[in-house]
Amino acid sequence: MDSLLLLGLAIGLLVIVVWALSIAGRPRDDADTGLATSTEGMTICPRCGMGNLWTSRLCSACGNALKG
Ligand SMILES: [Zn+2]
Repeated sequence: MDSLLLLGLAIGLLVIVVWALSIAGRPRDDADTGLATSTEGMTICPRCGMGNLWTSRLCSACGNALKG
């Protein structure tokens, strides 16, 4: 009986841990549902898709204003 109870507790704990990890690993930027506007060190122009440095405020290809 005791081992069965422990098994149930272990499974319950595992489910909780997996659930917590799935929430923690979820990407946070749900504000922008369109194209991904930024990647590591780069900003993708939302108009033409050109990759610009993240420090750039204007797209080097089309001059569109970039976010951030
Ligand atoms: Zn552009």
